[in-house]
Amino acid sequence: MDDPKQIVDFSQLDLEFSNYVKHNTSANPFVCFTCRTCASLCTSGKVNVLNIAKIIRKVALGLKDSVLNSKEIWTCATCMKCQEFCPQGVNPLDMIYFLQNKAVEAGTPTIPTAYVEMVKNIIKIGLIQPPQEIISLDFDEFDREELGLPDLSMPDTDKLKLNLLKTGFRHVIK
Ligand code: SF4
Ligand code: SF4
Repeated sequence: MDDPKQIVDFSQLDLEFSNYVKHNTSANPFVCFTCRTCASLCTSGKVNVLNIAKIIRKVALGLKDSVLNSKEIWTCATCMKCQEFCPQGVNPLDMIYFLQNKAVEAGTPTIPTAYVEMVKNIIKIGLIQPPQEIISLDFDEFDREELGLPDLSMPDTDKLKLNLLKTGFRHVIK
């Protein structure tokens, strides 16, 4: 978990990063007037470490390393409330997606293990996890045919693999 008492080093400001976000994504940290509507509604913020208003402010200030190495950005529940209710059209969720992509590209160590495992599975079998047994509350096991479900067709993983490796996941999946 990020240390909330950690003092941010303001000698590390990278305004090129903030401007890059503004010009290359649909998010704009510069128009945020810190009303904290996003933070007060945030689904993840109620139960987790995510402080979306703080993340937006950090991006506006150019605190690139601090946000990319943050565990917070991985706890977003993608509920879209921040995006829907922001009075300034900052598009905080789009910013979270951008930061996650950049963190993967940079191979930061804070990417949750569960995500890395999911990607490894996608590359291997085309699914985020191997198909699970279907078990009733009485612990009876069923297969797909018994339940009238069609055969599970496994996707062709070659294209998926190529695209995932292009995104920068090569640094993450060792
Ligand atoms: S709701 Fe919008 S304007 Fe208000 S703090 Fe969040 S991002 Fe900034
Ligand atoms: S989309 Fe993410 S950051 Fe935005 S309110 Fe939902 S959980 Fe919070």
